[in-house]
Amino acid sequence: MKVFHCDHCGQLLFFENSQCIRCGHTVAYLPDLALVGSLDHQPDGTWLSPLPAANGRPYHLCENYTIHQVCNWAVPGDDDHRLCVSCRLTRVIPDLAIDENRPSWYRLEVAKRRLLFTLMELGLPVASRDDDPQRGLTFEFMADRPDGPVATGHAAGVITINIAEADDAERERRRQSLNEPYRTLAGHLRHEIGHYYWDRLIAHSPWLDRFREMFGDERADYGRALQDYYARGPAADWGVRFISAYASAHPLEDWAETWAHYLHMVDTLETAASCGFSLRPPRADEPSLPKVPKFAGSGHLPFEWLIDSWYPLTYALNNLTRGLGLADAYPFVLAPPAVAKLRFVHDLMSQPMA
Ligand SMILES: [Zn+2]
Ligand SMILES: [Zn+2]
Ligand SMILES: [Zn+2]
Repeated sequence: MKVFHCDHCGQLLFFENSQCIRCGHTVAYLPDLALVGSLDHQPDGTWLSPLPAANGRPYHLCENYTIHQVCNWAVPGDDDHRLCVSCRLTRVIPDLAIDENRPSWYRLEVAKRRLLFTLMELGLPVASRDDDPQRGLTFEFMADRPDGPVATGHAAGVITINIAEADDAERERRRQSLNEPYRTLAGHLRHEIGHYYWDRLIAHSPWLDRFREMFGDERADYGRALQDYYARGPAADWGVRFISAYASAHPLEDWAETWAHYLHMVDTLETAASCGFSLRPPRADEPSLPKVPKFAGSGHLPFEWLIDSWYPLTYALNNLTRGLGLADAYPFVLAPPAVAKLRFVHDLMSQPMA
């Protein structure tokens, strides 16, 4: 993620902000410029950005911004959709007649917008079902029903997230009962979108053979593999072969877990770069990190740079969160086969995207 500033007063802005806390200006994410900027309300109801790059073009605010306050994205004036490019991807929202669902919906949309920011920076295709009924993407944020639970997952471009995952207490309960070191909305979204891009970028492509060499044959019985995993747990040696225990369940889960970690790396390293992060320890044998160069997208960077920066950054992150009495921010150890799989994802990202 980048660091943003108010165009009027220079105040630092977060990706989620809808108002500048210093000067009070309305701010919004302008997807066409890939930045959060301030907006001035016009008598005709539209909004203008003072930035030269906006070229005087009017914007309107996403309806989920103005009516529901769960969004902070603007829609460029030449697009007459009532929803921004992120919100229009959600085809099922939680039942707003239930009060607790509104904050859950907000947290889900926030996590989804962060995901989309990274996908767009990586140049990945992000089309809605309306724009591309065959290969487009859509999200369903659903609660368990009386007739059965809703499973978080991906099927043919539809990403379903059980909204209980947006409830901190419930997600923590599931994390502990499944013996997972890390469970977040960002993690869920990055994992499920990995399945979507496997279908789009690997399934019918020249990458498939290399995928099978590295991750195994995805035609192995998926239902049985998952059943075995939940009945017996992961392979004893998963730590030296896989990025996470769950990755050992099936080649497609290995892929989705690896993809999710790649997005963790890219987003966190970009944030570190935007903040001017560097590590200069007193001892030469401690993890160090020269100033992280700013980047948008990762494809033009050598993989070695990403992975060599990731180790010291996550060491510092974990040390900092321990200092605050929190769990490790990144509770993973990347064994060489997991790093090789991350490189495969990187190589894929470095290709021009269809
Ligand atoms: Zn301001
Ligand atoms: Zn929106
Ligand atoms: Zn999965």
